[in-house]
Amino acid sequence: MVGGGEGAYIGNIHRIAARQDGALQLVAGAFDVDAARGHKFAASQGLAADRSYGDYKQMLEAELKREDRVDVVAICTPNHTHFPIAKAFLEAGFDVICEKPLTTTLEDAVALDALVKQTGRFMGVTYTYSGYPMIHEAREMVSAGKLGKIRVVQVEYPLEWMATAIESEGNAQAAWRTDPKKSGRGGSIGDIGTHAYHLAGFVTGLKAQAITADLATFVEGRQLDDNAHVMIRYEGGARGLLWSSQVAIGCSNGVRLRVFGEKGSLQWFQENPNDLLFTGLLGRTELIKRGAGDLSEAAKSRTRTPPGHPEGYLEAFANLYSGFAEAINARREGRAPTAIGQNIPLAYDGLKGVAFVDAVVDSSQADGQPWLTPVAV
Ligand code: NAD
Repeated sequence: MVGGGEGAYIGNIHRIAARQDGALQLVAGAFDVDAARGHKFAASQGLAADRSYGDYKQMLEAELKREDRVDVVAICTPNHTHFPIAKAFLEAGFDVICEKPLTTTLEDAVALDALVKQTGRFMGVTYTYSGYPMIHEAREMVSAGKLGKIRVVQVEYPLEWMATAIESEGNAQAAWRTDPKKSGRGGSIGDIGTHAYHLAGFVTGLKAQAITADLATFVEGRQLDDNAHVMIRYEGGARGLLWSSQVAIGCSNGVRLRVFGEKGSLQWFQENPNDLLFTGLLGRTELIKRGAGDLSEAAKSRTRTPPGHPEGYLEAFANLYSGFAEAINARREGRAPTAIGQNIPLAYDGLKGVAFVDAVVDSSQADGQPWLTPVAV
């Protein structure tokens, strides 16, 4: 692991996810931008002292010399460091799991995606919400035609924690997220809008053809957007509306997806992630519960407990980890991955997210005109 040291947020979620189903074992790391703090943290995790590294370059060099070198490197650092770290490990022949947004520039995202193709290495991108079993069920229902042709996609990711200028009050996580040099061109749109954009495309299978956007910065002195509205025209004529916000007081982690087709609609809300609502033309709403017997293999393979026992965010993240490990093992063994190793977020999905951010910022800076195509390649 690179990053994810003491007090960091997502690194701990990665470690829990890796342990939960035994997908991967943490054996080495360069956990912190401060080497001494990183070593202290590595010791607290029970790592051997010779596998705790002062920085990722030392880790790369030393691991290459070991017979029992790490199989895959999880990058859990702020956005601006993803590119050099991922590039170095991919070029040296390691598989990589990288946080989103994949990079801070489109150029770097294109280069990483090309490097993955060129080296044949694996790169998973942790779009957390695509780990939920009921999101996979929704995806299966859309692709089986249960909703008919899709007309409208409403997706949103509102958060409240940055409703005031906490970046200037010592909040480390908010500080780098509001610094364009570390976060990239997008604020809320890069941090959480990329999750929403991926989720909408993942469930519907629709490709964005053009977008127009309106970014806002409500907190005084903030350098990046903290609220984004994006209209999306999808191939085939469907229309999408995406809202991401870091200033939506009252919304904790309100990821919500609603998909409307000619024959029915689906609704999913991450704060109640075990339930999926389907409404048909007669207006009757069916509650589809995680764990029910007749769900798709895609959903079943990502489920551990019977309906009624809640599973949630940590299990969704563990599903990504199990999927990544399965995809890596299947490639090594020259076989097709089982269900959990299929339909997982990869480098190209990361690239699409960065291309989306770029198009959104360009569109907003041009006052919403013209409509721009976010797909880079
Ligand atoms: P954080 O500030 O809490 O933690 C960052 C960690 O990286 C710290 O331990 C820091 O010391 C370390 N670090 C920084 N530069 C480093 C370097 N060059 N080498 C080694 N370690 C270094 O950040 P966070 O909130 O955990 O976010 C980290 C990444 O995860 C970001 O890209 C963010 O967008 C992403 N993220 C994803 C999700 C998700 O749902 N998938 C959720 C939160 C954050």
